[in-house]
Amino acid sequence: MKIICIGRNYVDHIRELNHSIPSDPVFFLKPDTALLIRNRPFYYPAFTGNIHYEIELALKICKVGKNIQSKFAGNYYNEIGIGFDMTARDLQENAKQKGLPWTMAKGFDQSAPLGKFLPKSSFPDVTNIPFHLDLNGKTVQIGNSSMMIFSFSEIIVYISRFMTLHTGDIIFTGTPAGVGSVKQGDKLEGFIGDQKLLNCLIK
Ligand code: MG
Repeated sequence: MKIICIGRNYVDHIRELNHSIPSDPVFFLKPDTALLIRNRPFYYPAFTGNIHYEIELALKICKVGKNIQSKFAGNYYNEIGIGFDMTARDLQENAKQKGLPWTMAKGFDQSAPLGKFLPKSSFPDVTNIPFHLDLNGKTVQIGNSSMMIFSFSEIIVYISRFMTLHTGDIIFTGTPAGVGSVKQGDKLEGFIGDQKLLNCLIK
């Protein structure tokens, strides 16, 4: 399986990182070794001094697709959950300045904590899904799928022009404003509505 992550999909987050609004979705990959499941702790890696959290709505792909048409895109995912796109911001800034890939900064082991999924059928409207991240009990990021520049369907259509989607692939759909650093001992909790789907202790 692969993890496909959308960057720059919320205007307020683009502003906080001083980027420009993209005309097409920006995406990158994390390998399967980035997955961190069952609420296991995240061990702060030695190669970075600035790990950031980014809460994102995650889609689970449920059938194989290539060049998916917009009207069918909604049929290609059947579960929605919460993921944290853990980012070594210092390595990422360094790579960006040199025009190099972000792979190390985004794809390292444990960089994709992934929580419980909910069936898509349990959402009355996938274009209005509220979610938030608490850091040590205080809400630091608030988002809603209504705030995304590119919708779930637009993301699926775009990615599938370049890459075949497989059953079990996960799409991280971008983060809203409020990203920030973690330190050892911090506790991250991710919610859809008031339902906690992911928690992660930084060790
Ligand atoms: Mg992200």
